[in-house]
Amino acid sequence: MGMFVNKTHHKSVHMSKQRHSIQTKIVKENERQVPTPPHQLPIFATSSFVYENVEQSIAVFEGKEQGHVYGRYGNPTIDTVAQKIADLEGYGLDKDTYGFLTSSGMSAISVLLTSLLTQGDEVLTQGNLYGGTTELLRSILSKQGIKTHFIDCTDLDLVKQTLDANPSIKLIYLETPSNPTLDCVDLSALAQIAKDSDILTMIDNTFCTPYLQQPLAHGIDFVIHSTTKYLNGHGNSIAGAIVGHRQDLRADIWKTLKLTGATCNSWDAWLTNNGMKTLAVRMDRHCDNAMSLASFLEQHSAVSRVNYNGLPSHPYHEVASKQMKAFGGMLSFDIQGSVEDCFKVMDSLQITTQAPTLGDVDTLLLHPASSSHLNVPQQLRLANGITDTMIRVSVGIEDIEDLIQDFGKALSGIK
Ligand SMILES: *Cc1c(COP(=O)(O)O)cnc(C)c1O
Repeated sequence: MGMFVNKTHHKSVHMSKQRHSIQTKIVKENERQVPTPPHQLPIFATSSFVYENVEQSIAVFEGKEQGHVYGRYGNPTIDTVAQKIADLEGYGLDKDTYGFLTSSGMSAISVLLTSLLTQGDEVLTQGNLYGGTTELLRSILSKQGIKTHFIDCTDLDLVKQTLDANPSIKLIYLETPSNPTLDCVDLSALAQIAKDSDILTMIDNTFCTPYLQQPLAHGIDFVIHSTTKYLNGHGNSIAGAIVGHRQDLRADIWKTLKLTGATCNSWDAWLTNNGMKTLAVRMDRHCDNAMSLASFLEQHSAVSRVNYNGLPSHPYHEVASKQMKAFGGMLSFDIQGSVEDCFKVMDSLQITTQAPTLGDVDTLLLHPASSSHLNVPQQLRLANGITDTMIRVSVGIEDIEDLIQDFGKALSGIK
């Protein structure tokens, strides 16, 4: 006990509660003052959870009683957001979905891949994946003895041939629509092929969100997200999500998540939750604006090609119409001109921002050839339709007339 504290003095103030010295009282967590529950999800900033007695502790550790244990395993903020995303992915489906919130989209991908695969297993995927995913498969999973086949997954015969020729393929990894040309793979057809061969399927649904596309409804086994993008929508958090419905694989995924320390933190989970509440109204506006901007660009003489799933001219318009509720906020277009012309257009746009992300409320620009696809060999890049004069646009929710005017002005500078 500290020599300057007069215990008797404090005792006289709070007679009934005074059992320990003030130093102890200072350290001890106070009784919660929560007479009515909070309307909004609180941020839980605690590294651990407490038990009433040893018996309860044992029950929770053994999984016989529901309860939180330690922050790295999740907490009420994190788990609430994870289950919300799982509920949205499973919305209206006869499936019991579960979710995990991870520290980033990349950690969602790596946790799920490493929990489902083992040395000697092989992956089948498409050539035009998110750059980080391609690199993860090529340089990290390959070191763990997991080989990847990169093929054109829109070619269903080629998919079947590849599966027949490679019996070690255990998982098909998909991204539809793909970045930045928005090629779409037929989810129902691929899920059926996979089921026939007893192969797991997993998709990155970041571009669509469950509001526009529900892969589980098409028979896909797992969905991952970079919630950093549309689900948050405001560009102020990094997080990812894993959603599944196969109860037999749930424990393995949770174990990998727990032991690789890839769980999301409370603050980013909270920001994601906050952003997600406006997902439907944001997506409706993203889709409307992107459709209008794509139509405007398509008839402009300074534009040679527009990639947008909503345009009947897009080669994957039909597949997209079949499996997406609307066509999303992402588009890309080719400048009729030189690389210099392309940069000039990007630099003259006033409303937009040049940033290597997507899905925020404001319109974002990116030059794929020199950024997201910089490390893809030119020949391969061109073969995938990613030209040197391509601009990717994550269309925001601004006033559409302002946007069209801005693009019109920028394009007129090169004509
Ligand atoms: C951004 C992104 C990722 C990676 O997500 P992070 O949150 O940055 O780790 C994965 N897939 C797609 C389609 C993305 O756009």
